Amino acid sequence: MTIQNPDITHDLESVQLEPAQQVELNTLLNECHEYLDSCDDELITKAFKLAYVSHRGIVRASGEPYYLHPLEVARIVVKEIGMDDVSVAAALLHDTVEDTEVDLKDVRAEFGSTVAHLIDGMTKISGVFKSKGVKQAETFMKLLLSMAEDLRVVLIKFADRLHNMRTIQHLPRKKQLSIANETMELFAPLAHRFGIYNIKSELEDLSFKTMDPTGYKFIARKLREKKDAREAFIGKFLEPVEEQLRASGFRFTIRGRPKHIYSIYRKMTRQQKPFEEIYDLFAIRIILREPHTKEDCWRVYSIITDSYTPIPERFRDFISVPKANGYQSLHTTVISRTGRKVEIQIRTEKMDEIAERGFAAHWRYKEGPAKEQDINRFVSWVRDVLDNPRPEAATEFVEDFQLNLYTDEIYVFSPKGELKTLPKGATPIDFAFEIHSEVGERALAAKVNGKIVPLRQRLKSGDQVEIITGKQINLNPDWVNDVVTHKARSRLRQYIKQKERKVSDEGRELWNKRADRAGIEISDQELAKIATRLRYSSLQMLFFDIGSGVYDVNKLLKAVKSYMSKGRVDEAEAKPDEHESPATDHYKIAYDINNKQEGSPGLILNGELTDVRFSFARCCNPIPGDDVVGFISREGDIKIHRVSCKNTRHLIKTDGERIVDVSWARNTGSQFMAAIRIVGEDRVGLVSDISSLISKNLKTNMKSINVTSDSGMFEGTLIIMVDNIGHLEKVIARLQKVDGIKEVYRYE
Ligand code: MN
Repeated sequence: MTIQNPDITHDLESVQLEPAQQVELNTLLNECHEYLDSCDDELITKAFKLAYVSHRGIVRASGEPYYLHPLEVARIVVKEIGMDDVSVAAALLHDTVEDTEVDLKDVRAEFGSTVAHLIDGMTKISGVFKSKGVKQAETFMKLLLSMAEDLRVVLIKFADRLHNMRTIQHLPRKKQLSIANETMELFAPLAHRFGIYNIKSELEDLSFKTMDPTGYKFIARKLREKKDAREAFIGKFLEPVEEQLRASGFRFTIRGRPKHIYSIYRKMTRQQKPFEEIYDLFAIRIILREPHTKEDCWRVYSIITDSYTPIPERFRDFISVPKANGYQSLHTTVISRTGRKVEIQIRTEKMDEIAERGFAAHWRYKEGPAKEQDINRFVSWVRDVLDNPRPEAATEFVEDFQLNLYTDEIYVFSPKGELKTLPKGATPIDFAFEIHSEVGERALAAKVNGKIVPLRQRLKSGDQVEIITGKQINLNPDWVNDVVTHKARSRLRQYIKQKERKVSDEGRELWNKRADRAGIEISDQELAKIATRLRYSSLQMLFFDIGSGVYDVNKLLKAVKSYMSKGRVDEAEAKPDEHESPATDHYKIAYDINNKQEGSPGLILNGELTDVRFSFARCCNPIPGDDVVGFISREGDIKIHRVSCKNTRHLIKTDGERIVDVSWARNTGSQFMAAIRIVGEDRVGLVSDISSLISKNLKTNMKSINVTSDSGMFEGTLIIMVDNIGHLEKVIARLQKVDGIKEVYRYE
């Protein structure tokens, strides 16, 4: 890959081409003149010469000289995309900087900064594709970023990929498959996005042909077989229409042959229908030649519906309201004489070209400022999407872009922008395990796009996910039903097993003690038989139920005694009470036992009830109705403080990132401790008045009362149990009316 004379770029004029190459150059120049508004012949000639000499001595996998590849890419750029001469030059040189000793400085000096800029963009893109382990969506993001810099970089890349796909048969099979797959997943949707349907369709067909040659050949053969019947039908169907159109002075072209094999295949697999049914749903395209205008499209529509009945709900007017990518056309579906539904698309030549080539086609029809404006509008649209701070917009875009091609996977990002591919339906728990098993085990809450969400919430493509972890393991066995990744699920199962083991060990101990006391000796084998009679899947499961209190150890004792004396178990008597499916629901019971003391009322995190572990701060004893915030403690659970708490203000300053948004669940059904401070004049019977008011009149449970009196003044602290803030306020209001009491206030 060396260029003999590195100074070659300074001396391109003197390079003499062989007659064969001269012919190739002339062909390219002729095509440029035919397809482009203007063309700098000298620029193209120089670029051709540099491509030729810089790749000299190098051959492609096909055995052809390498320079033929950039030449073919340049021809696609002219003929099939219709770009400008600068793009043609850049296409000719697109592999030079990367593969030869020509560097960007040489290119800039000889061809100017625009060509150099385009080539630089191309080189960067291919760097992205070559780096190993690069994930597809990340590649896509980078591609978009470079695209926003200069749209032409991506269009040349399409041309490059198209030529590589057209010549893919020369590569080793493994390479073929990976390139075809990447083309299908990345380039084809992107080409669709650009509205370049002809290239999109060919890329899909070539990829499909590579990945599934049998399927491809099957459909291609069927299409050939059906060709005559189809043409006969179309001919007959169009006869009255064509006649009318000609009589009205229309000049038009009709297309009705489906050439896109992959789209037929996709419909067959998606709709689960045989070839024949898909094939029947075809569209006839009537293209009005220049100088027909959009008004003429409506006239054609009216002529067609004179002959055939249209289905009104299938009518689409993309002329008055073009699609985002510039697509314009009238669509209507009519019923043929034989009762067949036929879709007809009516458009002008110009609209057809835009439909086939998308934005690239605009370049041909617009000049100067209008052309510039058009490109600018597109580029700014892409930038907008990329820069948009609204996370939904990026998500919508990604979803839109994916076009159901990636329905099985989602792409999410870490706060540092690292990309993770997850199965559809994945939750932050899956994401956490994907990062590291320890992160998964200690996950407490998740922030998605900056907002706290429940760990069980499903993620969407484009989400940025941050996991908040605690110090301790915080696994919840119920998650096993929410996770979709193998990693998360297997760890949770293991955790459940461990918990079950612990409980069943306790159960065994209980049994051993009971058996000792009763003087019974029985082997595990015998016990296992009894467990089976009791419809437990194993002895361990029986011990588990004993350990978790579901099955009374005395019942087992009875069963063992009857087994030992009568050789059978009286099942009706010994059967556990609720024992439908002992093997499945155990972990829930175990979990409840272990979490009895914790967080009984349920915590609403960011609007959703969660089962995150939490406790109430002792410093301010919040009760339902208080304004509260949560802090993720160093131990890993969430501490609830009142917003007005002194410690809250301090924590906001020092540990602001540990704050989470919490609120109260309605109807908690729990009681909360509240402290009340009372100041007043001491008198005989005051304490008993207070306590009887609280417990009898207000039916409130008083935990303690502490009073000190000094020179006629009384000061006391009451600890009472309340349902919520309203309850507390009622107590305070009633206490204020008690004779002699001066001040009553909530005390922290
Ligand atoms: Mn190339």
